[in-house]
This record gives sequence, structure tokens and C-alpha cells, in this order.
Amino acid sequence: MAAEGVVIVTGANRGIGRALARDLAAAGWPIALVGRSLEKLEEARQDLADETSSRCYAADVADWEQVQGVVEAIQGDYASIHGLVNNAGITKDGLLVRMSPENWKAVLDVNLTGTFFLTRSVAPIMMRQRSGRIVNISSVVGLTGNAGQANYAASKAGIVAMTKSVARELGGRGVTCNCVAPGFIETDMTAELPEKVRADMLQRIPLKRLGQVEDLSGAVRFLLSQDAAWITGQTLVVDGGMVM
Ligand code: NDP
Repeated sequence: MAAEGVVIVTGANRGIGRALARDLAAAGWPIALVGRSLEKLEEARQDLADETSSRCYAADVADWEQVQGVVEAIQGDYASIHGLVNNAGITKDGLLVRMSPENWKAVLDVNLTGTFFLTRSVAPIMMRQRSGRIVNISSVVGLTGNAGQANYAASKAGIVAMTKSVARELGGRGVTCNCVAPGFIETDMTAELPEKVRADMLQRIPLKRLGQVEDLSGAVRFLLSQDAAWITGQTLVVDGGMVM
């Protein structure tokens, strides 16, 4: 299924982003791995099939100038940009009445504004190409809300609404924009949750296991592929059936 053009994956040095970079590279796309530490990204790049066609770019996705600089560099290094996977994200959980404005802002800045910055920088290039695929990693929490995650849920719901708006604006230029909304995936992000929360979560999953990073690859690969050419503005939930 090798395709032309690079696929940008943010937060590609660990967790879901690292697995996506590996699996999308195995499907034949050169990958532009974006993250805060070049050293950590280089380590992730070593895992990739044909790692020589993939490159690493350092940027904090919440920094507009850094994002613009990285997208310019990627544009210079590759003939075209096939896809953008907005995966970088953080949590700073806490009950609403104890949530500091700083923790509200930090999560919105990375998850929602970071997704906007990358999309804003890549969209004109894809529009000129008259082709491109944007896949945003939202969360089931963006669909249902979650106690203790007002900031995170708002950022992920914002991504769903932004996706639909971008899909409407860019559809006429052959650019699609969709979301994948994962359920509970075992990564650093979920590692610190108390055992009771994990057990409760498991109870609510019809497929009776927690998700692994690899569980998301098929959905993202599909949305980047030619098979998804007439799908845009959608949110594909990948959660073992927890939310339906
Ligand atoms: P991890 O915490 O394991 O990894 C997060 C990644 O995002 C890291 O590569 C991290 O880089 C990067 N990142 C964080 N902040 C920035 C920033 N400002 N600029 C650039 N990169 C940054 O999380 P997951 O792999 O679990 O999550 C990946 C995505 O999936 C997130 O958007 C998350 O919200 C979403 N998701 C995860 C779920 C889960 O259950 N795990 C469920 C639903 C959605 P660094 O190493 O530098 O910190």
C-alpha cells in the first residue's frame, strides 16, 4: 500500500504516536516524526521499516513559530505531504473545583491549539496539492465527558468540532479530515491510574481487554488510505465497544 508523500506524526517518540509511526512506515509511507526531543525521536526512528526515508523534527506543538518552522522544513525535505496525524497530547487531571487555570490552559494549548497549529500550517500545502489526509486523535472522553477531566474532555471535543469544520472547508480541494477516538489504551498516559479505575474500565469494555497501542493503527492507516477517499468529518471510535 505504499503511497507517495510523507505522513507527519506528532508525539511520535513514545506511546500511540510511536506505534503509529512504526505501523504507517511498515505500510510504506515515509514518516516525519515530530516531537519535543530530537534525541527521543531519533530513537523511535530506528524502529521504522526503511528508516532512511523518515526524518525527525523538533517542535513543541503548542508553539506557533516552532510548528511553522518544522512544516517548512518538512516541505523542503519531501516532494509532497500526504498526511498529518495530530497525536501529541497531555492530561492534567483534577476535579473542576480544584482545577487551576494553568492546568486548564496547558491542556487546551497542547491538545487543541497544537492540533490547530499543525493543521493551519499544513492545510495550504495540501490545498495546493489538491490532496491530503488529516487524522486527529481525539478520545472517547471528548464524546462522553469524564469526571476529573474537564480540560482534557473539552480539548478532545474541540478537536471533533474542528475536524468537522476543516472537513467542510477543505473537502472541495480533495483534502479529508477525520478523527480517531480511542478508548483506554495502555501507555504512559494511563499507567498512573489507580488499579480500581482500570478494573472499572475493563468491566465496561465488551471486548474484555484494555487497548494496546497497536489497536489504533488499522483505523489510522485506513483513514490515510485511498479506501477512505470519500470519508470526511467523521469520528471513528476505537475502544473495544466501551462507548456505543
Ligand atoms: P503519551 O503520554 O504516552 O505520549 C504523548 C506524546 O505526546 C509524547 O510523545 C509526548 O512527547 C507528546 N507531546 C506532549 N506534549 C507535547 C508538545 N507540547 N509538543 C510535542 N509533543 C508533545 O500519550 P498516549 O500515547 O497515550 O496518547 C497519544 C494521544 O492519544 C494523545 O492525544 C491522547 O490524548 C490520545 N488518547 C490516548 C488514550 C489512552 O488511553 N492512552 C485514550 C484516548 C486518546 P514527550 O515525550 O516530549 O512528552
